[in-house]
This record gives sequence, structure tokens and C-alpha cells, in this order.
Amino acid sequence: MTISKKINTLLTNASFIRKMFEEGERLRKQFGDENVYDFSLGNPDVEPPKAFKEALKKIALEPITGMHRYMSNAGYPETRRAVAEALAEQCGLSFKENHIVMTCGAGGALNVVLKTILDPGDEVIILSPFFVEYKFYIDNHGGVFKEVKTTDEFELDLNAINTAISANTKAIIINTPNNPTGVVYGAGSLADLGKLLETKEKEIGHAVFVISDEPYAKITYDGTTVPSVFKYIKNSVVVTSHSKDLALPGERIGYAAISPKIDQADLLMEGLVFCNRTLGFVNAPALMQHLVAGLQHESVNIAEYQEKRDLLYDNLTAMGFKMIKPQGAFYLFPQSPVKDDVEFVRIAQKHNILVVPGSGFGTPGYFRIAYCVSKQIILRSLPAFQALAKELGI
Ligand code: PLP
Repeated sequence: MTISKKINTLLTNASFIRKMFEEGERLRKQFGDENVYDFSLGNPDVEPPKAFKEALKKIALEPITGMHRYMSNAGYPETRRAVAEALAEQCGLSFKENHIVMTCGAGGALNVVLKTILDPGDEVIILSPFFVEYKFYIDNHGGVFKEVKTTDEFELDLNAINTAISANTKAIIINTPNNPTGVVYGAGSLADLGKLLETKEKEIGHAVFVISDEPYAKITYDGTTVPSVFKYIKNSVVVTSHSKDLALPGERIGYAAISPKIDQADLLMEGLVFCNRTLGFVNAPALMQHLVAGLQHESVNIAEYQEKRDLLYDNLTAMGFKMIKPQGAFYLFPQSPVKDDVEFVRIAQKHNILVVPGSGFGTPGYFRIAYCVSKQIILRSLPAFQALAKELGI
């Protein structure tokens, strides 16, 4: 066979998603883009903020000598310093540039961190519903994932986490604000997780890292802020990017930040920088590093996302769909009105509505709506949702 058996199996398992995209393409050709309500992708439809465009123009007009060359695999010191200063402001810890590695997005950062800490067979806990790529990233580096459910409200279930931790547990990945639920873990939950891990680490004799995946941290609503994991958990690493907050997913710019409190932090950093290099990323894109250094306090217009959340949440709940109100990110995760969420997605397609089944996030019985689309699409989709609700008798 041309490709490995393993990749062939993964491709076969993913064939449903492929079929869904093919069906989306077919609907678009048949009905036109504006009549297909595609809520399937977390690809922001907004443009980067004005400050980004100004910084881009400035650097194009006044290029810095050497700005396209290789640099330290960790990234430019001034960019890492800017990130460290922003983190220090947020959580009060003494972040320095040597706690930061610039990466190719949060996906790149996750791979770099996992490669650095995992030995073959080490376990990584993931919390369902989860971003499905976690499974592949863990497998990339010889790890084994262990799924643990969150509560009915999609909050951390500390008893379940406690039970899942074994001597082989190396890390737990949390994602706040969460894709797909929009839940933001509160300070109390993080503090309780920190305490639990301290006890468990003593028992098993090694660190259990909390890898907090936070690309949506600036996208929060109704005054919610994302409590810093660094404040509450000693062995914490944040992986994040500007894919969502600056709407730059195609530019692949993000970072991993390690808590200054971690034992042997210097060695961990050395490992991260080595893995950034040897995974073939070499370094995060140079041009983007120059730009985002001055944009750590910028973001897209969050009020626009809040308006879209409210529009969909208010209308869909009035139609009888059941869901929790998300505090962040740009997803809704309603209960599937029919038992089989994949079947529900097929029925929704008949109304030109494209959504993703909860099974794709390890949580059957739900579906995900990504509302990072135009307000027009949302408004145009409402009669289709109404017809769908009517067909299903909800
Ligand atoms: N983590 C979560 C939860 C995401 O939703 C995404 C992208 O959708 C990523 C990580 C990857 O983001 P990036 O584009 O920064 O690699």
C-alpha cells in the first residue's frame, strides 16, 4: 500500500467528515454559497484588527534588515519578551522571555509540548467533549489518550479526573474557553484541579502537567474573563495562538508558555526549543513574530461575536433546541433532538444547514454550531432551523 496501514485506518475513520464536506460542496454548487448555512468550521470570517494591518503596512514600507532570516528556534527575544510581559500583567508571576517559545499556532505548540514530555506509553487525559486533533497529536508522540467526561454542564469533573490518573499519567489537556461547549473554567475549578494534582503528584512521584489550550482566551462574553491557570496550577503550560483573537489562522502564529514555578523549567524550555526545531517547524513565521510583538493587547471585535451568539442562542432556544449559554469561544453545543447525532446532521443537511455531530468531539447526542460566520448567514439560516425544528417536532 502507498500509505501506512495506520494512516489508512485513520483516513477510513475520518471518512464521515470528508463525506460531510463533500456534501457541503455539492449543496453550495446546487443552491449557491448564500443559501447554504455552513456552521461546520472554526475559521473566523472576520478580518484581522486595524492595528494588525497598520503594523503590516509599516513593516512593508520600512523593512528591518535581516527580518526574513533564521533566528533562534525559540523565536525573537523581543516577541517573547512582549508575550512574557502580557502574561506577567495577567497573572502576576515573573514571566521572562525564557518561559516562552513562539510556535506555528496552538496546534504546533501542542505537538512541541507533547513531544517534549512524552515517553512511549505515557498517558494524557483529555476531557470530552474535546478538540479531536488532541487524539492525533498525542499519538504522534507515542502517547496514549484517556478520555474523561466533563459534568452535565461541561465543567471539570474532579472525581472522574482523580479516578483516571495513574502512575503513567504525564499530562491533562484542558481547553478554556472550550471548543465545542464555550465553557470557561472558573478560578475555583482550576484551584481545585491544582490541589488534586498536587496530591496525586506526591502519590505517583512525578509531575502531571496541565496543558491549557487557550486560543479563544480573548473571546469571552458578558464580562467573563479567563482565570489564569498559572495562578492555580504549579505544573502548567499554556498553548495558544493568534488564529482566533487576531483572526490569523492561516499565518500559523502562536506560542507555548511554561509556568516559572515548574521544577527544571530551564530543561523543559530546552526540550521545547529542540522539539520546535526537530519537528521541522524550525521557528514560528518571522514576519508574524515581528507583527504580533506589538499586538498582545489587541483583538478582533468581540462584541460582534457576542451579538452572533445571542442571535443564535435566543432564536434556537425559543425554537426548542436545548443548550447551555456559552461564555466564550464561537461555538454552540446543543443537544441533538434525535438520539443519533450523525443522523441529525444528515437531516439538518436537507435544510442546507451544515453542523458537526457531537460524536466528532467524543460526545454523541449533541451537535456543534460554529457561528464565526457573517450575521447575514445567521439571519438567513433561522427559517431553515425553524423548518428543521418543525420536521423533528421539537
Ligand atoms: N485548540 C483548539 C481547541 C482549537 O479549536 C483549535 C483550532 O480550531 C486549535 C487548538 C488549533 O489552533 P491553531 O490554528 O492555533 O493551530
